Amino acid sequence: MLDTSLPETTGPTFTSLPPAVEALRDRVREFAQERLRPEVRRLDQSDAADFDWQLVTEGHQLGLTRLVISRQHGGLGYGELGVAVALEELAAVDAGFALIFGATMLGQAPLLLSGDPALQARFLPLFSGDEPVLACNAITEELAGCDLLIPENAQFAIDVMQARRDGDHYVLNGAKKFITNGKVATYATVFANIEGAPGASALTCFVVPLDQPGITLGDVADKMGYRACLGTEMSFRDVRVPAENVIGGEGGGVFINVQQMNMARAAVAAISTGVARGALDLARQWCGERIQGGVPLHRHQFTARKLAEMSAKVDAARLLYLRAAHLADTEIPAPTYEPAVAKLFADRIAVEVAEEAMSLMGARGYVRDFGMEKYLREALGARIYEGTPEVLALAITESLYAEDEF
Ligand SMILES: Cc1cc2nc3c(=O)[nH]c(=O)nc-3n(C[C@H](O)[C@H](O)[C@H](O)COP(=O)(O)OP(=O)(O)OC[C@H]3O[C@@H](n4cnc5c(N)ncnc54)[C@H](O)[C@@H]3O)c2cc1C
Repeated sequence: MLDTSLPETTGPTFTSLPPAVEALRDRVREFAQERLRPEVRRLDQSDAADFDWQLVTEGHQLGLTRLVISRQHGGLGYGELGVAVALEELAAVDAGFALIFGATMLGQAPLLLSGDPALQARFLPLFSGDEPVLACNAITEELAGCDLLIPENAQFAIDVMQARRDGDHYVLNGAKKFITNGKVATYATVFANIEGAPGASALTCFVVPLDQPGITLGDVADKMGYRACLGTEMSFRDVRVPAENVIGGEGGGVFINVQQMNMARAAVAAISTGVARGALDLARQWCGERIQGGVPLHRHQFTARKLAEMSAKVDAARLLYLRAAHLADTEIPAPTYEPAVAKLFADRIAVEVAEEAMSLMGARGYVRDFGMEKYLREALGARIYEGTPEVLALAITESLYAEDEF
């Protein structure tokens, strides 16, 4: 049996990361390798609805639920750079576990982007208590998927959740689908369309405590990967939300959605990079130990070429997400192009590297005990959320032609 407990060697080795980010990376790496790794097989193979609160509590104690919250509100004050580096470390071991915290930060993102001191003071400190508090970000619906992510398509979105103004409240009706953390979160940032406006053209973001009447949590999706986190249906029936819980103003949801995607894509690219790196690490170790033709596999030139290409892809993906995260931290608003490019590339190479890594392990790559096939299942998942390749291509080409006049 392959010994997977050896220390990682192919993680980021940049000396240019800020010292606080390096220290965070090291803490998260130690947690991921020593605490999370032994639990991975159980997390991956347990029932779709199982959720490990103990591990999440330990992640919370490490600060993973409040990384991006300012110190003023009890958080750790990291930007996207810290988030992305931390998520790569988790995803190199288990992408589903990484997404529990990624989705929480996405749930917090509209509040952070709002610049609304009153909303921030009400909600952000709640993530810094002794017990973990999780959030989710609810956009996707049964009939409206990518149409809610492409601003030009918003008017065509079908049957989108409705928000009706009623005095000093809004009343929400509709349902969301595949919402990561929906089942375990305390708060959701929910996107609904103002009643009467076509499609999702008046999309509006609300922060919603999930313990109120009218909210029903449905089945957990039985996903092929990302098993540690739960994707859930959420139904809202006459849910009353105070008008002061609107984030970014009525109709401001499209802008918030675009901005949060531009911030989050660097982090999702980091998750894909972590998946690719995890697969590469396992393959590298195996190709060092496995003797065929009288020498370790990596001495065969075809294998050496494969390992070299995989390593170059992981490094390139990391550099792209670091650039995107750095820009997301330093430019307001965050750019569209660099995060989209980083995610497009990392999502693609994660599938390529995981597939190649599996083949390098022969039959063992195809057998669950060795932990390799999980990386391929996870690599396929990151291509879907926060922008499919097609959605990213539209964002990228829009940037490419932004300077041209037609
Ligand atoms: C692991 C995971 C976690 C998730 N977490 C969340 C979450 O926390 N919150 C949330 O709101 N959602 C979440 N989702 C849902 C995800 O965001 C949606 O699945 C995604 O936006 C795509 O929507 P859809 O599945 O309805 O596909 P569709 O929109 O039906 O798209 C199907 C295919 O058509 C393509 N397509 C669609 N429109 C166009 C177009 N205009 N041009 C070209 N091609 C197009 C797509 O690229 C895709 O290949 C999650 C999904 C997964 C897998």
